[in-house]
Amino acid sequence: MNDTLNDIFDDALPADHRSGVVAVVGAPNVGKSTLINQLLAQKIAIVSPKPQTTRRRQLGILTTERGQILLIDTPGLHAPHNKLGEYMVQVAQSAFKEADAILVLVDVSSKPERRDELLADTVSRLRGNSLVYLALNKTDLLTNADREAHSAAYRTLIQTDHVFPISALTGDNVPVLFESLMNAMPEGPRYYPSDQVSDLNLRFVAAEVIREKIMMSTDEEIPYSVAVEIESYKERSDALHYISAVIYVERDSQKGIIIGKNGVMIKEVGAAAREELEGLLDVKVFLELHVKVLKNWRSDEVLLKRLGYRLVKED
Ligand code: GDP
Ligand code: MG
Repeated sequence: MNDTLNDIFDDALPADHRSGVVAVVGAPNVGKSTLINQLLAQKIAIVSPKPQTTRRRQLGILTTERGQILLIDTPGLHAPHNKLGEYMVQVAQSAFKEADAILVLVDVSSKPERRDELLADTVSRLRGNSLVYLALNKTDLLTNADREAHSAAYRTLIQTDHVFPISALTGDNVPVLFESLMNAMPEGPRYYPSDQVSDLNLRFVAAEVIREKIMMSTDEEIPYSVAVEIESYKERSDALHYISAVIYVERDSQKGIIIGKNGVMIKEVGAAAREELEGLLDVKVFLELHVKVLKNWRSDEVLLKRLGYRLVKED
């Protein structure tokens, strides 16, 4: 550990302090964000019942006296339908490369599907020398009749000795999984101060919260057609943040839906987002929202870049 890093440490670390990166991968909707939130006991990854909520890679920082685990929440691995989909798959795949352990999450309350076979292929292709952990999630929904068959089916797909039935929602068995992951980390420094839980910046958090509120209030295509750009984020004081955001949609009809009759929908979204941000940031938030049409942004590389979704060439 070098001097610069030492400077930010507030407390002495044990000689065998551990640290490492755990990539959390899995099909959409299996509970990756919920697990990370459960582990961090704080809401940093947005959770919604609709799949593909997590678009970008996010870092969750889990610090104890024994060590520090950097959790990378990845967008779901799935067959891409457009440029945004391609980007999401790339993000997930690149997370494998820098990981000390790969935590594969599956929904054990239902049988493996085609998407789980695809995931298994990707894991065996990219696992390299990384340790692979299999978390059989949503045990709270699992019936006794399905327990054996479903567990066996997933164990066959993802070959590893480290298997943990858990419920990310209730927290059941999550501490056991956590202990095991910590034991598997190599010795290393504390990369971030102990009170930092995320490397997300405020603009990003604000955009994600707004997007989450839209996803929760709309249906069908709209949740996937929305991108949120923070035009301006001003910390006017310690007690007041001023945020102006643009909600991009792909078609005029979608714009109408998001604004709603007499602006009712956008008002609701704004109020819900503001309330949540005020809770998260512990400041008063002044939130201004605009809705703009950006035709087919999901299929346009230039627009994706502008919105911060960068496609990288695979090496
Ligand atoms: P992700 O797409 O893999 O990040 O999945 P999310 O964490 O967003 O979760 C998708 C949905 O599954 C949400 O409605 C969660 O509340 C739900 N969920 C996640 N974990 C569990 C669990 O252990 N039990 C139950 N019953 N629901 C869960
Ligand atoms: Mg997620």
